[in-house]
Amino acid sequence: MSDIIAQSLVSLGVTHIFGIVGIPVIEVAEKCIARGIEFVAFRNEQAATYAATAYGYLTGKPGVALVVGGPGVVHALAGVENARANCFPLLLLAGSSETHQREKGAFQELNQVALLHPYTKIAVQPSSLSTVPDLIEKAYRSAYFGRPGATYIDLPADIIQAKLSSDSSLHYKRDPGPAPKSLADPERVRRAALALQRAKSPLLVVGKGAAYGRAERMVRNLHAVLKIPFLPTPMGKGVVPDSDELNISAARSAALKTADVILLLGGRLNWILHYGESPKFDPTVNIIQVDIAAEELGNNAGNPYLGLAGDIGSVCEQLLAEIVKINYRAPEISPLLVAGKRKNQLKAASLEDLSRKGPMLYQGVYKSIRDTLERVNKTRKVVYVSEGANTMDISRSSFPLEQPRTRLDAGTNATMGVGLGYAIAAKIAEPESLVVAIEGDSAFGFSAMEVETAVRTNLPMVIYVMNNSGVYHGVNPAAYDNVDKQPLPPTALQLNTEYHVLAQSLGARGFLATNFRELEFATERAVKSNLVCVINVIIDYGENKKLEFGWMASTKPKI
Ligand code: ADP
Repeated sequence: MSDIIAQSLVSLGVTHIFGIVGIPVIEVAEKCIARGIEFVAFRNEQAATYAATAYGYLTGKPGVALVVGGPGVVHALAGVENARANCFPLLLLAGSSETHQREKGAFQELNQVALLHPYTKIAVQPSSLSTVPDLIEKAYRSAYFGRPGATYIDLPADIIQAKLSSDSSLHYKRDPGPAPKSLADPERVRRAALALQRAKSPLLVVGKGAAYGRAERMVRNLHAVLKIPFLPTPMGKGVVPDSDELNISAARSAALKTADVILLLGGRLNWILHYGESPKFDPTVNIIQVDIAAEELGNNAGNPYLGLAGDIGSVCEQLLAEIVKINYRAPEISPLLVAGKRKNQLKAASLEDLSRKGPMLYQGVYKSIRDTLERVNKTRKVVYVSEGANTMDISRSSFPLEQPRTRLDAGTNATMGVGLGYAIAAKIAEPESLVVAIEGDSAFGFSAMEVETAVRTNLPMVIYVMNNSGVYHGVNPAAYDNVDKQPLPPTALQLNTEYHVLAQSLGARGFLATNFRELEFATERAVKSNLVCVINVIIDYGENKKLEFGWMASTKPKI
């Protein structure tokens, strides 16, 4: 039935599969390739499924992954959970042991349906060959209709190897097309518009659901009339251009704290948004959530009476019509917020300038990369991938975005190891763009072998490894001379690992950058080469600040 699976996927319009083959799914991949699907063979199922999730986010259609059973599925669980946590569409197909050998200790035997059930919208094992096309279609469609997420089809070896009797014919369903767009309850739209009109200090927060939902035109139209300050979440950046003068990211804390009404488009009130709760937010703030999942409305500090269930683009159009109808007038923006933004921007700029003069620090390195990219890459859209702690946090504000879906980062679960899979997916989804991955050295280590995948599949990209020889900050190099007496901290990695040499051994171009001159040279050469390039940037170990994600600071209650 391998060909039945391949044919099912082809009729749904699937063009790429991310995965790793082995018994019993080798033939499935072969049949898919024979039918014109590109099979992107990874080195680890985690990276393969991460890639499939990012491909789903960037294209709006499920990324499809194919893996072996048992340990393959255990590794792929990482991608399944990533899809669930981030609301990215993913269809996972995995081989499994033969049904008549259940509970006998069969090859790679695992109850995969049970394992994946809590993290998927559908997890099912077909009962017969003839049900396979319909189930694949259902799982594919379910992954992106409604709130996007992961689905799973379990493929036992005996079903894969079975043959259809000659008298049976199968029906293959077509591509279900774009996800249906639902409108919000008009009465709620009216109430939301009135709440915005009455607000003294309104704020727009744009989450990655708006980017995923391709709502940029409608969000920008609405924002042009609302004329209120806005904040993007890390992956919501670019839906409204970062250069817009109402972007209040530089005064994020003050904007959150002083807002009385917040319009939240496609973002959950989870840790990334501090649950919408005090002390980060005003305890009386009125938060209007717009989400495709009605069950999200009212979560944490969201207002369940005002929340709008529907597709973001469509709901923005509804809101705009209502706002115009009630003669909305934009309120004046607090001069304090504007002054705070200006002050912080100046501070950031002087930090960048300062760090260009001393040892290599994140801010100076990012300024150098930004300036060089601007100089040598005039035409191509840049898609940034970033993961790590400081590496990711600081890069967020160092690289302003003008377009949506041009930044992929560790996301809702702050998952380290997504970077290379995401970069590969980005280059496949957007072949014309320049993919730039900015990786912490620890984060890079989770999937460094995928450099070979990128080289083998001919996917040019520039990968920076921000090498401070440690998780979070690095360790003072002097500490490595004294390990017999004083063991290294658990955050330490080997001093100055030669990631550029590793990359060369995997077929990529490797560059070492220990100063700004070398960094500029490497960036220019890497961009112009149109090859897979890894730039090992040796940065200063920095001061040992408290270990936590910048975004977590801090909603902890005082006990
Ligand atoms: P962020 O990490 O940017 O805060 P989240 O991942 O928390 O964003 O939230 C994204 C939200 O967007 C999810 O709750 C999801 O249901 C929602 N969403 C996804 N697509 C759409 C869409 N087309 N219309 C409305 N909401 C959407």
